[in-house]
Amino acid sequence: MLWSLFKIILFVVLIAALALGAGQLLELEGGVRVAIAGWELSLSPLQAVLAVVFLLCAVWLLLKIVGLLVAVVRFVVGDETAINRYFNRNRERKGFQALADGLMALASGEGRTAMSKAAKAEKYLRRPELTNLVTAQAAEMTGDKRKAQAVYKELLKDDRTRFVGVRGIMKQKLAEGDTDTALKLAERAFALKPKHEETQDVLLRLQAGQADWKGARATLGAKLKHGSLPRDVHKRRDAVLALSEAKDVLAAGSTIEAREAAIEANRLSPDLVPAAVMAARSYADEGKPKYAVRVIKKAWESQPHPDLAAAFAALEPEEDAQSRLKRFKQLLKLKPDHIETKLLQAELNIAAEDFPEARRSLGDLIDDNPNARVLTIMAAIERGEGKPDSVVRGWLTRALTASRGPQWVCGNCHTVHAEWEPVCSNCQAFDTLAWTEPSGGDISMPGGVEMLPMLVGAPESTEVVAVDEFSDEPTESAKIENSDNEKDVLDAEIVEGSADQAGQK
Ligand SMILES: [Zn+2]
Repeated sequence: MLWSLFKIILFVVLIAALALGAGQLLELEGGVRVAIAGWELSLSPLQAVLAVVFLLCAVWLLLKIVGLLVAVVRFVVGDETAINRYFNRNRERKGFQALADGLMALASGEGRTAMSKAAKAEKYLRRPELTNLVTAQAAEMTGDKRKAQAVYKELLKDDRTRFVGVRGIMKQKLAEGDTDTALKLAERAFALKPKHEETQDVLLRLQAGQADWKGARATLGAKLKHGSLPRDVHKRRDAVLALSEAKDVLAAGSTIEAREAAIEANRLSPDLVPAAVMAARSYADEGKPKYAVRVIKKAWESQPHPDLAAAFAALEPEEDAQSRLKRFKQLLKLKPDHIETKLLQAELNIAAEDFPEARRSLGDLIDDNPNARVLTIMAAIERGEGKPDSVVRGWLTRALTASRGPQWVCGNCHTVHAEWEPVCSNCQAFDTLAWTEPSGGDISMPGGVEMLPMLVGAPESTEVVAVDEFSDEPTESAKIENSDNEKDVLDAEIVEGSADQAGQK
């Protein structure tokens, strides 16, 4: 911007200086007189200056003509390419200048200029492998897909530019959503340049998306071989692929192979929950419950998860609640402070009808992390202890709007999945699902949560005892008036509805 302004000012100043100079030359007295061998020429000062400029041009032209004459003489003497070389030098210079301009235009985002410069360069240079690269990129830039595709097809003809052509068409097919063709092209590009990282990633994504787990594992192996993947990441992803393979094999009805694949996946990544669950089930089917227990415990140590607990329970389907509680002790002691351990312990105690112990198992989760599962367990405890319906309903009402707790969430697009998948169903990213609490887990309801007690009916009697047992907070009506936290208000409203009414009055 500033530079343009500067150029304009410079131009104006130059013109003014020229006009001024010419005016002064016109006003000057005298002039130049040239006398050569009887010839005599009188020039005014302005004419003299013009004559000098003309003379310079004439000398430049003379040098050019001499150059051409020299080339002609050489040609006559026997150097057959001399004239061609003379003209080619010129063409080459102009061609490379045009190519440089084209690249510059490309870099500054001027697609149309780049395209015309590339065409000009091609006219002088006749080097399509060079100029087509510029043309293709310029066509992409201006959104001229058909032209770009035509140029990519040209590039396929030359060994040196084939990869660029394949990659270009592959990207176009990907953008169009034609994944079948894109996969074939990616395989071709991978064969041409197995070290190319982007091609590896595209191929892997497409193979995973089309459930070609064997192919994907081969690509993953190539990624590791060419050093573009850390070994631990490779191991984990390979496990994910092995697990996906196992799932497919199981769906096809071949259980023995599926078992082996699941155990392999678990061996590669012991913390991958679905692999551990499947491997445990495989061991149990083989009549090796000890191995199954070991696999589940190993996975529980790195990631306690309800599916692992379910798999652990399934090892002894016939046992009663008391002996199940006893058997689970070996799992529960591994991570005693983990929220999943506390919830599992509470659930097992509820099943064994030991409600006070279930309440103790929950610990302070009801204050620290009151998600839907915690609140539902709380409702079950109250029901088991014979509390009135209104109290139970209060907990369930809170559970309605509470966070759902951890789920399989895509780390890329944050989509929540009901089941673990190797490929995100929304953004098609590979191995992005993690067992975490989704952001914005609280469910908003029209009218706000404070409306709910009205809808489900406020409890009738004051349940101060219930409040004292799990909360140290004061239950007076003053607390309700001072609190600006909706949840606290609701909590108090549900448990001691009459106090609420008193507080409002
Ligand atoms: Zn996703």
